[in-house]
Amino acid sequence: MKTDELREKYLSFYETKGHARRASDVLVPTWDPSVLFTPAGMNQFKDHFLGRVKLDFTRATTCQKCLRTGDIDNVGRTAYHHTFFEMLGNFSFGDYFKPDAISWAWEFLTDKKWLGLPADQLTVTVYKDDNEAADYWHEKIGLPTSRIDRLEEDENFWPASAPSQGPDGVCGPCSEIYYHPKGSKPVEIWNLVFTQFNRVGDPPNNLESLPSKNIDTGMGLERTAATLQGVTTNYHIDILRPIVEAAAEICGVKYVPEEDNGRRLRRITDHIRACTFAIHENVYPGAQKEKYVIRRLLRRAVLDGHQMGLRKPFAYQLVDKIAEMMKTPYPELQETTQRVANVIKTEEENFLDRLDEGLARTEKVFATMRKDNLTVVSGGEAAELYQTYGFPPELFEQVAAEKGLTFDWPGYKEEMEKFGELTGTGTMKLFETGPIESLKNTLRQTDFVGYDQSDADVTIKGIVANDEDGTTKLVDDYELLGEEHELIVVTDSTPFYGESGGQVGDTGEIVGEGFLFIVTDTQKDSDLFLHRGYLASGKISSNVDAKAVVSQRRTGIQRAHSATHILHYALQKNLGEHAQQQGSKVDEDWLRFDFSNMSAVTPEQLAAIEEDVNERVSASETVKWETVPLAKARELGAMMLFGEKYPDPVRLVSMGTFSRELCGGTHLTNTSQVGMFEVVSEEGPSAGVRRIVALTGDKAKEYREQVASSLGEMAKALGVAKLDVPEAIKQLQQYVRDLKKAAGGSGKAPGEISPITTNAKAAEPDYAAQKETLKESARMVNVGMFDAPARITAMLADVDSLKKEIAARAEMGVLTADDLLAKAETVGSTKLIVSEAPGAGPNEMRGLIDQLRKKAAPCAVLLIAAQGDEKVMMVAGLSEEVVKSGGKAGAWVKEIATIVGGSGGGRPDMAQAGGKEPGKIADALAAAVAFGKQMLG
Ligand code: ATP
Ligand code: MG
Repeated sequence: MKTDELREKYLSFYETKGHARRASDVLVPTWDPSVLFTPAGMNQFKDHFLGRVKLDFTRATTCQKCLRTGDIDNVGRTAYHHTFFEMLGNFSFGDYFKPDAISWAWEFLTDKKWLGLPADQLTVTVYKDDNEAADYWHEKIGLPTSRIDRLEEDENFWPASAPSQGPDGVCGPCSEIYYHPKGSKPVEIWNLVFTQFNRVGDPPNNLESLPSKNIDTGMGLERTAATLQGVTTNYHIDILRPIVEAAAEICGVKYVPEEDNGRRLRRITDHIRACTFAIHENVYPGAQKEKYVIRRLLRRAVLDGHQMGLRKPFAYQLVDKIAEMMKTPYPELQETTQRVANVIKTEEENFLDRLDEGLARTEKVFATMRKDNLTVVSGGEAAELYQTYGFPPELFEQVAAEKGLTFDWPGYKEEMEKFGELTGTGTMKLFETGPIESLKNTLRQTDFVGYDQSDADVTIKGIVANDEDGTTKLVDDYELLGEEHELIVVTDSTPFYGESGGQVGDTGEIVGEGFLFIVTDTQKDSDLFLHRGYLASGKISSNVDAKAVVSQRRTGIQRAHSATHILHYALQKNLGEHAQQQGSKVDEDWLRFDFSNMSAVTPEQLAAIEEDVNERVSASETVKWETVPLAKARELGAMMLFGEKYPDPVRLVSMGTFSRELCGGTHLTNTSQVGMFEVVSEEGPSAGVRRIVALTGDKAKEYREQVASSLGEMAKALGVAKLDVPEAIKQLQQYVRDLKKAAGGSGKAPGEISPITTNAKAAEPDYAAQKETLKESARMVNVGMFDAPARITAMLADVDSLKKEIAARAEMGVLTADDLLAKAETVGSTKLIVSEAPGAGPNEMRGLIDQLRKKAAPCAVLLIAAQGDEKVMMVAGLSEEVVKSGGKAGAWVKEIATIVGGSGGGRPDMAQAGGKEPGKIADALAAAVAFGKQMLG
């Protein structure tokens, strides 16, 4: 039986038993903080199990996309584990219980009409104390007791070991069904969970019977397909084997199941299938949480390829095959193969670039360890390897394990925390407990009334405060004042928007008889709105009435939020349909918008996008919202994102006829209220994703004013027209370079900068040109846009002080190397330079001689300078050739120094002497010329 057929049979079997067929939940439920990836079919029904939602049905059946990070190390090693797999399931919410769950499972597995598996190849397990289940299997189904195993709580209870170790809350025994293939080990194919208890505290007698009992089952699709298809591993079933074979072809090897390469190809198949599904849902490889898991899976696959000799990206080529194999249940995969493959390829390139170096580094680490007889890889090394080479610690651990070395995880975590960065995941609780949870149970939800109003009459329903020992708890009233006493206030209804969908939470006040509560932030926990803040006066109590007033800040947030929808439209118009939203943050007149695009947005595209947004703003289009069935929204062409979970019905926000988005946020009523839209930056936060930051309303206006005034300020300082500023900066930079040279004694002092008049008579340039000009100017001087004027002022100040320095040198008659060269006499082929060097000390004279030797070799130079009224210094230097033909600088200064009443000497190529009679300098110069001519002659 084909896998697609099995999936369909399961769902229709349970439909015949009165179950509602529901779609798979997304793979990455970003709104659920308890998991990174959906691990099982039941997760989408968590609130159904807890009775927290109104039930439209009490029986459901699904085929759920799952990803289990805990099974990563099993992949390739066991025959039956994947990271990504599909789980078939049937669920009862307080409806049928054990007898039906068991007998239907048996019927589906063994009945010829359905799977027709031979009953004598099936066994089951039950929890050791679950006589009810054991008896039913034995008496009603007819299984001999020898084929019913009773197992401990660590094996057959959900959550595992819950009775003795917790957590408190709903739990129950399980019954697993095993298939025994001929000639190999049994495999668990189906787990039936009977959620019948509420655990309260430690044993004994800590399991209370639930009034409403649930059924939650999970059957592994691939495992069951493998039994039906008679293959020895999941990887050989009809929807996986072709991917394994395609991987072998791409990698240029033959697939031999039992060899190392076989394991590697299965792992590549699994990991790239998982990555394909996640990236399809817009979860890209990255440094944190689920993104990190995807990075790790992808890099593991790349390492496998590398170990088979591949040095170029290869894994991305599997995406098409995967989409083809999965197209019956998930046709939407085919719409994004291009994008998914691009993202994978980029990540492969990034990793491959550094992989060889990273592996070389691990070899070094291992060699040192062998030398020092160590067996545990240090966490510090691992942290270094991840940060420098992008080599995930899990890979390092694996490579180390191949050498029989273990890995220091605590050390690694400590090291990463030092960098303020921790990859991977923590453990999270599926069901939280605490004051907020108990409010959820009693209140279920807060009615949100803030779409059309910014204040409302409300009743205080819950106050959560901190105890002295730091734990939070529910209180009836509260009267400590001031910001340091943070509170959470929950009301029956609220106009305050709770942070969600990228839009920040509202601030404002809740005022009642005798109290004022300041709301500093509003958060959402499921459907409960949490007003965070503090009491400014009076005493707040539960069950009193109050007025909730949202602050004016909301208007700025709405401007930014409506602008993101317009931006989304403009991006798609200018870049193409692939430019879909990846994430956003909407704050007061400030927004950040991430979207898919492989390369940077060019300045021209960006200008067009900005212009299109502002054009829609000035077109004054009506903004409307309505609640419609999901199917209707789809039909109307609303923008829908893969991986996003939409309720049904949905809230549809439309602007004119150009934008339709499903959105829970608050909006303006007309696009013109955005006022102005201004992009302030565009960058790439990760592979395949671009990020635009923009401003709206007054903030955009202020920004524009600042652009114009900054550029104006620079133009004025430089004495040119605005658009000539970059040209003037270029000249100024050259001018400063020339001045510096002159001030340092090399080169002549430059004249004045010649005036620029290109744009002098032009009219005031338009804003876009001014912004571009300012950006370019800022780039030229390597500072941020608004720091450029200060930089120019500083450069002009430099010009002034350099000019002063040059003038001071000129006044003292300081000579440059060029000045000296002009005075040279030629003796034979050698230049003889003998001169006074006014204002120069011995170091400057050496410097001048070095310059001359470079510029004018062969040469012989002797410089003399008075040092105040009572001292003379002289330095002589000869170029290499002169020294070779017997010249001696030491002898030269020794002879001349006697004239000024001193002495000295040194090496043949450079020598120095001092004297006490500045009045004799002229005599000394004459003597030095004579000596020099003789030396060279
Ligand atoms: P195992 O002990 O074999 O890892 P499990 O006890 O973790 O399985 P459950 O959590 O009960 O499995 O999940 C229900 C069913 O989902 C299992 O009976 C199995 O058929 C399937 N399943 C679980 N994990 C995987 C996996 N990593 N890959 C493929 N199928 C799986
Ligand atoms: Mg498992």
